[in-house]
Amino acid sequence: MQVSDGEGLDAVPDCLFCKIVAGDIPAEIVSTTEYTVAFRDINPQAPTHVLVIPRLHAPDVASLALASPEAAAALLVETRRIAMGEGHDSYRLVFNTGADAGQTVFHAHGHVLAGRGLDWPPG
Ligand code: AMP
Repeated sequence: MQVSDGEGLDAVPDCLFCKIVAGDIPAEIVSTTEYTVAFRDINPQAPTHVLVIPRLHAPDVASLALASPEAAAALLVETRRIAMGEGHDSYRLVFNTGADAGQTVFHAHGHVLAGRGLDWPPG
């Protein structure tokens, strides 16, 4: 596996989530860390529905992990911290990857879903 140090992951001007990271578009911020920004999904699918995104721009989570394992690890750790902080021992973490899987924003993001029964298999 080839990893880099996060070079080449600069903000993309037309990226919605890069604009949220920059503070150019408002969002209901839940947490910020050196590597991540978390905010409530505008169209929540569960009582807790928080998106955790890297400050670096990467189109999906695997690309992020290849470019910056530290940022990817920080993102994963932050998902658990957020779920626990909202009072949930159990939560679902979703990374839609690719348009056919439902990805609509091509800046890596984990959906933290909790607070209701979650069916399996997912739809
Ligand atoms: P995905 O479909 O996995 O790419 O997820 C993108 C998510 O971003 C969807 O759940 C949207 O509801 C959410 N979303 C889109 N625009 C915003 C926004 N401005 N603030 C918060 N969430 C957003």
